[in-house]
Amino acid sequence: MTIREQLVRQVRPMKVMSAVGFYGFLFSWIVTIPVGVLAAGLAVSAAGLLLLVISLLGILCFVRCPACHQKVGSLFLACGIRRPIYCLGPDVRTCPSCGVELDSQSPEEAPAGSGC
Ligand SMILES: [Zn+2]
Repeated sequence: MTIREQLVRQVRPMKVMSAVGFYGFLFSWIVTIPVGVLAAGLAVSAAGLLLLVISLLGILCFVRCPACHQKVGSLFLACGIRRPIYCLGPDVRTCPSCGVELDSQSPEEAPAGSGC
């Protein structure tokens, strides 16, 4: 498994949590405003927004490079035209902290004795 694959695996649960939070926030208002249950809409949208914020903070705080164990979650939150949010674009080739190639084998997954 490469370092890139390991980083994507670390982000995946927070990406799902963030999508649930975002769509919960969005659809709570779409569903509850026509019905007239604003208190329920407010509660669901607040929960969705909280879930979204927690997932973003989780990406920033808990996604770490397998080689140097520094925080690299900001790589997933920087987005642009060619790089959607939560994705590592092909232009990101190295860890900004230690400079290891992201497409190299993860040191935690390397077979024993391969370093000699
Ligand atoms: Zn690193």
